[in-house]
Parts: sequence; C-alpha cells; structure tokens
Amino acid sequence: MLSGTNIMIVLLGKPIKNWECIYEDCEASCCRTRREITLLDIKRIVEATGKQPEDFVSITTGYIPYTLKRKDGKCVFLTENYQCVLHDSGAKPILCKMYPFMLQKILYGDEPIMFISPVQDCPGYGRGPPFTKETLDEIKRQGKVYLAELRRIARYKKRRVRLEEILQKEL
Ligand code: SF4
Ligand code: SF4
Repeated sequence: MLSGTNIMIVLLGKPIKNWECIYEDCEASCCRTRREITLLDIKRIVEATGKQPEDFVSITTGYIPYTLKRKDGKCVFLTENYQCVLHDSGAKPILCKMYPFMLQKILYGDEPIMFISPVQDCPGYGRGPPFTKETLDEIKRQGKVYLAELRRIARYKKRRVRLEEILQKEL
C-alpha cells in the first residue's frame, strides 16, 4: 500500500515474480477493453502524433469522462500486428503504462483510493525479467498521477465546465 498527498494505491492479487508483455500471444487482450484517459494523456498524444482529440477521444458521462476511441473492438492505436502506435514515443496513457496491472475500482472521497490487480490469464507471467520493486514503484507512481488527474477533471466539473471546453482549455 502506498499513500501520500491524500492519494492511496492498493494492490490486490498475488505477487508477480517475472513478467513480460508478450502481446502477440494474447493478441493484445488488454487493448480491447475500454480505456479511460486523462487530460495529461490527451495532451501527450496530441503532441506525439499531431492528431486532434476528436480523432481518438470518446466523451462519456462517467466520472472519468474521456476514453480512447475503439475500432473493430480494439483501441484505435493498436496495429494489425498488435503493437501500440504510441509505445516508442512514450505517449501511452497512464493506465497502459500500468500493465500488467489493471484498474479495478476507485473509492472517491477526501482521500481517493485506487485498487489495482494483475491482469487475469496474462501469458507473460513467469516470462521475461524479474518483476522488481522498482517496476512496482513506478506503476504505483503512475497510479498516483492518474488519481491527481482525476481530481483535476473533478475540479472542472464542479465548476460545471463542459467536457469539450475543458479540452480546449487544456490543450
Ligand atoms: S499485459 Fe499480458 S494480457 Fe496484457 S497485453 Fe500484455 S501479455 Fe497480453
Ligand atoms: S494506447 Fe496503446 S497500450 Fe493503450 S490500449 Fe491503445 S494500443 Fe493498447
């Protein structure tokens, strides 16, 4: 468990000893689910790709109002070879940088708590390099950035700023 600046990350599930993302084996199954993104994610992707938000952002009604657009049941940034177009630029969204952990739920309050757990049936467990404390710390750090980003969106929503307008202000 990690806490600080009123944000907390809780890990669920068993410890991972070794791991490698062998996305060809699972046909990048993690990139076929709905993926929430933050304002920071959107800004990074615009800068890295030259695309406009309308090219890749879906606006929803949830607490986390921005998600990656999908095509044929997969993320718009996933290639036919199951590679992520954003990987080399470092512009992958925060939640994608947290693989093999997936966001399970967030308890909102004065001190938001994020629960994450290892992806089920990932073929990469037991493969690749040891899963180090440093890797885990980086995943937790990404989780904290994500929660801070949610708070940023929440502040806008409290002021009743329209979601499209938030994007215009931030980009
Ligand atoms: S983390 Fe595991 S399940 Fe997800 S894309 Fe990589 S290999 Fe597949
Ligand atoms: S941005 Fe990349 S890693 Fe994230 S869901 Fe899309 S293809 Fe997968």
